[in-house]
Parts: sequence; C-alpha cells; structure tokens
Amino acid sequence: MNLSVAIPVYERYKQTYQKKKEQLVRKGVTSFAGYITSTLEELMEKDEVFARRAPFMQEFGFDEGTNTIYIKDNRTNRIAGVTVREKGLTCDIDQRDDCVHIGFAYALPQVYKVMEKLGVRPPKIKQ
Ligand SMILES: [Zn+2]
Repeated sequence: MNLSVAIPVYERYKQTYQKKKEQLVRKGVTSFAGYITSTLEELMEKDEVFARRAPFMQEFGFDEGTNTIYIKDNRTNRIAGVTVREKGLTCDIDQRDDCVHIGFAYALPQVYKVMEKLGVRPPKIKQ
C-alpha cells in the first residue's frame, strides 16, 4: 500500500498512534501501517452501517390502491414511489429493482405486509 496524505494529517495520526500504542498492541496492531489500516476499516464499517440505516430517507406515504410506498429521499429532495408487484418491487425514479429506495423499502413493515398480501417472496439478503 502506498498512500499520500497531507503532513498535518499524518502527524496527527502518528501522534495518536504513539499515544495508543500499548492499547493497540493488545488489539493485535503492532505497526503504524497496521494502525492506519484498522482505522480505515473501522471507518468503512461505520459508513456501511450508516448507509444501511439510510437516515436520509423516510417513509412518506402509502397508496393502498396501487400498493405504492412513497419514500422521501432527503439527499435529492425527491419522492420515490416504490410499487410492490407480484414479480417484486420497482422504483419509479430509478426504474430498477435494486436501488437505494428499494433497499430502504425492504426495511419497512408496511412493505412486508403488502408483499405478504400479494404473495411476493422477500429476496435473499445480499451481504
Ligand atoms: Zn429508486
């Protein structure tokens, strides 16, 4: 791995590393490079958890007639309509079945109720 970082950033990490050195050894981190790697991994994990919870999206409404759940996307300020059909879920913004709105829809109890009603089987969760 070859990374270029700004000197002040490097210095800050180096200082933190020196301070936490003993503690890190107990966690199995024995070098500065190892420390950077584990820090990046931690950050990435946090990021993934954040993305999964998708705090930028919220349930906006539900149309029982069309089995469409409306999801407000606070990043784009648009409202996505995710429609539950027998063959699965579709998003009217992305015209796909694997966009962020669909991912979020699968976390909503209302969607599961409709899926059950229509006999749609939930997808295998990709991990
Ligand atoms: Zn979408």
